[in-house]
Amino acid sequence: MLEVKNLHASINDKEILKGINLDIKPGEVHAIMGPNGSGKSTLSAVIAGKEDYEVTEGSVILNGEDLEDSAPEERAHKGVFLSFQYPVEIPGVTVTNFIKTAINEGRKAKGLEELPAKDMLKLIREKADLLEIDRKFLSRSLNEGFSGGEKKRNEIFQMAMLEPKLAILDETDSGLDIDALKIVANGVNKLKSKDNAVVVITHYQRLLDYIVPDFVHVLYNGKIVKSGGKELALELEAKGYDWLK
Ligand code: ADP
Ligand code: MG
Ligand code: MG
Repeated sequence: MLEVKNLHASINDKEILKGINLDIKPGEVHAIMGPNGSGKSTLSAVIAGKEDYEVTEGSVILNGEDLEDSAPEERAHKGVFLSFQYPVEIPGVTVTNFIKTAINEGRKAKGLEELPAKDMLKLIREKADLLEIDRKFLSRSLNEGFSGGEKKRNEIFQMAMLEPKLAILDETDSGLDIDALKIVANGVNKLKSKDNAVVVITHYQRLLDYIVPDFVHVLYNGKIVKSGGKELALELEAKGYDWLK
């Protein structure tokens, strides 16, 4: 599904990613761990096609297609979902209206008609029920006054609605209390299937108690320095990262 080959990327002429290789198949859950500043968020941003980064070498291939020339929106339409893609507060735009627009834009990009209102409503209710999201939440203004847990709930709801092939969840360091972790984990566990893949980026082993990864990769100083199974996360918790430097 996703192949990352010898990926090098820079920002402001500073090389951050120094040759990343990853091979992610449908149905797999990969965790990327590593100390602060190792390049985890950069890797997710580069896969999503954010334009602040310059890819200087290597490639990102989704289902056999090199994404080099695809803009972030095109990648999203091809099935790449990056959490925190829409962290902005939009007063007056509800959680529901925002996702309706995103869904219909995606359909338009594929040459499809807008989803009829009735079907949209049905889909929204189905996904909200699956994730045990209160209907009232759906009519809140996007991100306005959201708690950490509510931001996560919104993200997971967006992911459920967009049904990505590849979901990348960059669990940045802030705002992830245990409730928020559980919202993310329950959502991911409900949404994963044999046809999609999930990449969870975290520097907390804790999250991986709830989302059990098939593979764990350690990113350090722009390189994957070790890969293993879920037991590697426990080893990192016990020993820290220093032994890998
Ligand atoms: P992580 O997510 O693992 O904490 P990041 O990908 O956020 O790491 O950052 C990796 C490195 O890139 C850090 O040294 C950081 O300072 C640097 N970096 C990230 N964004 C920028 C930027 N916009 N300008 C300059 N350096 C940056
Ligand atoms: Mg960081
Ligand atoms: Mg980060």
